[in-house]
Amino acid sequence: MDLSLYKRIAEIFPLVDYVHLQGWGEPLHNPSLPEMIRIARESGCKVGLTTNGVLIDDKMAEFLLENLDRITFSLGGASKETHERIRVGSSYERLLSRIKMMSKGKKGERPIIAITFQLTRENIGELSHVVRLAYELGVNEVIAPNVDYVPNKEVEKIVVFSCSKPDKNFLRKIEEAEKIAKELGITFGKRSLEMMESPMCAEDPLESAFISVEGEVSPCVYLNLPTLEEKIERIFCGREIRINKKIFGSLTEKSFEEIWSSPEYREFRDHFRRRLSAWKGPVDIFSLSEEMPPLPESCKTCYKAYLI
Ligand code: SF4
Repeated sequence: MDLSLYKRIAEIFPLVDYVHLQGWGEPLHNPSLPEMIRIARESGCKVGLTTNGVLIDDKMAEFLLENLDRITFSLGGASKETHERIRVGSSYERLLSRIKMMSKGKKGERPIIAITFQLTRENIGELSHVVRLAYELGVNEVIAPNVDYVPNKEVEKIVVFSCSKPDKNFLRKIEEAEKIAKELGITFGKRSLEMMESPMCAEDPLESAFISVEGEVSPCVYLNLPTLEEKIERIFCGREIRINKKIFGSLTEKSFEEIWSSPEYREFRDHFRRRLSAWKGPVDIFSLSEEMPPLPESCKTCYKAYLI
């Protein structure tokens, strides 16, 4: 994203609590990143990002430590072999040394240093090791999300969640890691391995929005993925789905307020508002309540709408 567009977006920052400088790529590739972080901080926002750590040198580490509220590192495995197979192009040793450098350089409570470890059939066996490794590296949080965007059948084969009943062995591995995290004083974030009905998805479109590098405004990144095709392809419980991107306007043409208050965007958010009002408590996907207002069409086949 170029800086002039970012400055237009920054006009709404005084109304925003938290800015996460990332979409579907590596934020440190943007040479304007330090300036972007400064602008968000000067507007009173908390700022965070997720990185593979490759581009963090000593100077950048010092800057990030001073200016971020949260930094999350993407780890593919607790061993060099698994990490480098899953995160192609990333050096395990370098990533660990960057995490350690950041945690050692911290002067107070912030930034929160987190590891995100996306669970697959290939690496879930290393989850407890990741928690121990995080402890050794001085990390505050381990987040263990699912592969929640499934673009094709190949990716579908490696997910650990289930559209019917979850694998008990996988559940045990998560429980075990959670227990170790508790003992070590590390915050542990997990998702469900079973589809559950929920009134709101993790991205919370009532409180947040995604703005692409081109300035397009959407409820979340999953509705404006940087695909070559016009449509977004998804596999949802074995079915191949193609959905239209959901873009409510571009900041190159309109203000954020105009886009946010457009009838179409309001109608999208109202689905979730109505669901929150009707919510009576968690049920599994086989016991969906009849009174529950439906999700927006493009969310019905998004795993994040079901706590995955
Ligand atoms: S349910 Fe999925 S597609 Fe819909 S807003 Fe949430 S994350 Fe985005």
